[in-house]
Amino acid sequence: MRIVFLGPPGAGKGTQAETISKGKKIPHISSGNLLREAVETGTDTGMKAKYYIEKGLLVPDQIVVDIIKDRIVKKDCKTGYILDGFPRTLSQAKVLDETLKNLGDKLDLVFYFSVSEESVVLRLSGRRLCGICGTNYHVEFVPSSKDGICDKCGGKLNQRADDKPETVLERLRVYHEQTEDLITYYKKKSILKQISSDAGIEAITKEVSDIINCTLQKKPLISRGVV
Ligand code: AMP
Repeated sequence: MRIVFLGPPGAGKGTQAETISKGKKIPHISSGNLLREAVETGTDTGMKAKYYIEKGLLVPDQIVVDIIKDRIVKKDCKTGYILDGFPRTLSQAKVLDETLKNLGDKLDLVFYFSVSEESVVLRLSGRRLCGICGTNYHVEFVPSSKDGICDKCGGKLNQRADDKPETVLERLRVYHEQTEDLITYYKKKSILKQISSDAGIEAITKEVSDIINCTLQKKPLISRGVV
């Protein structure tokens, strides 16, 4: 099952992708994580991407497309994957379609996580990540038991540089300008399911999981999420 998670920053795509990927035993491929890894290891790609990430801008299509193309042909992607944060432009979506076509595959589902702008700012400004194992926390909604320390591995919790309020606003602007068009693109292909990110984390996981199960069983989708 090849799935895309679409939506503004802070819609909870990463959190849901993590859980669903474990449940369905398919890899969670986050373009943001792959780019941040490249930045941290100091590869050529990482050096180029750093400038854009820090400003809240999109990294040029070619860089991201190459990273994703390399990743989806790996052995663990044979039965499917969740793409989180990719595609983010119409041109990326078209390249993805073309690449999948050449591989004899296609996208099965696109989940669009909708959320209000106020929630985005609140969620991202309070988000903290473990510097070692990458676990996500939120200072208010999902706090660690010890302030600033990861419950799982004892690592230090950090704020992503691009989660600072001014960069969050820029990321939202970029989302509206360059990514929102993908909603119509996938709606036309009849593979888009809209999920309201205002429900609780577990309720959303169940909704997403039910839709995936129904699609796998090729049953009609009797779900409020179907658009
Ligand atoms: P994310 O972790 O998905 O919020 O992504 C963090 C940053 O990585 C974004 O603000 C962009 O600078 C960059 N990025 C991630 N995915 C893409 C993509 N598909 N196209 C362009 N830039 C991306």
